[in-house]
Amino acid sequence: MTQTLLRGRLLSFVSEPQSLTDSESYRYETDGGLLMDNGVIVESGPYAEVKAKAAADAVEIDHRPHLIMPGFIDMHLHFPQMQVIASYAANLLEWLNTYTFPEECRFVESAHAQRIATHFYDELIRHGTTTAVAYCSVHKTSADAFFAEAMRRNMRMIGGKVMMDRNAPQGLLDTPQMGYDETREIIAEWHGKGRNHVAITPRFAITSTPAQMEATQALAREFPDLHIQTHLSENHDEIKFTCELYPDAIDYTDIYARYGLLGDKTLFGHCIHLSEREADAMSEAGAIAVHCPTSNLFLGSGLFPLKALMRRDKPVRIGVATDIGGGSSYSMLRTMDEAYKIQQLLGERLNPLESYYLMTLGNAQSLSLSDRIGTLDKGTDADVVILNAAATPAMALKMEVVKTLPEELFLLQTMGDDRAIVETYVAGVAAKAVL
Ligand SMILES: [Zn+2]
Repeated sequence: MTQTLLRGRLLSFVSEPQSLTDSESYRYETDGGLLMDNGVIVESGPYAEVKAKAAADAVEIDHRPHLIMPGFIDMHLHFPQMQVIASYAANLLEWLNTYTFPEECRFVESAHAQRIATHFYDELIRHGTTTAVAYCSVHKTSADAFFAEAMRRNMRMIGGKVMMDRNAPQGLLDTPQMGYDETREIIAEWHGKGRNHVAITPRFAITSTPAQMEATQALAREFPDLHIQTHLSENHDEIKFTCELYPDAIDYTDIYARYGLLGDKTLFGHCIHLSEREADAMSEAGAIAVHCPTSNLFLGSGLFPLKALMRRDKPVRIGVATDIGGGSSYSMLRTMDEAYKIQQLLGERLNPLESYYLMTLGNAQSLSLSDRIGTLDKGTDADVVILNAAATPAMALKMEVVKTLPEELFLLQTMGDDRAIVETYVAGVAAKAVL
């Protein structure tokens, strides 16, 4: 396969930035080269050195003066909610019952699921996202469409059919046995095919009976390497209802813990209103709290204490995500802009280095996949995004006075969206240009 050599400013993280001046936390090459071959990064560093190692027939693409970064990772979103986004509702439970559940019923039809899957990956690529962790609908057809399209595009994707057997319309319910059997079938058919990962996906405790939680626990035991994803502590009415359904549990987090679902591969969407006990339990288990800022603001769910959770004596591992369609943008840049504002409202600072760390290496570490994605390291997947901080007239005008890398990153985060994504490389292939 022909090699591709990208030239531009390389930026990737090596650790969590401790401050705005923590230059040890990242690698930055002002004239960098990134050599990709057969879907993998084979060299990364100063352009002259990388060029010297490239094959004579390597195709060279000059992205100067743009930034070259690892592709963004979105830790939580819902594939069947592309037509739920921008639905006018007072709160989470009204939004679910009025808009979301009826829309997800349509995914029983393969043709609909396939059509939306095409749009889903188009939007991810358009916004520079190369890996995402998604909920499909309850129907196996939706997971089949999701994974087939991921494989066709050679993307590293994580997803699962939701298991839900109560408190939703009939067309969206499985049973404990059916949820177990279909998840097993999906694992057999899709896990490890292409770059697909299957996640065990009980939607949340409200929509799963204790019998279904037991079936989920059985899956988690049989497939200990798989990710588990669910929702936790998003909204006060949701928390109250959940705890009524599981009266023996100490609190919401304890429900999942009782069924063996609190571990270091578990991704909990939201976690806005955790008690100290719950945060301790999350920390001890190594479980991940996935922050979905545009969704939390859109649904009025609350302000996620990101910085407070990170600096606890027992810190909680964090991921960041769009949560489409409760979230209002596919862009991780827009997502981190809202994350920044939520910390502002809490009297905290989220500096731009931390934001870009979280979107890339941080999320990769939270997925235990940093050996494959989230950096520009040699030997990892060639999933790359090219960023232009002067993408619009207003951004270009502001760029005239920007002097430092953190200032440029902050401008991109504050004003940027899909227009700032010059190109998205998936496994070494330019994927945005062909949309
Ligand atoms: Zn969600």
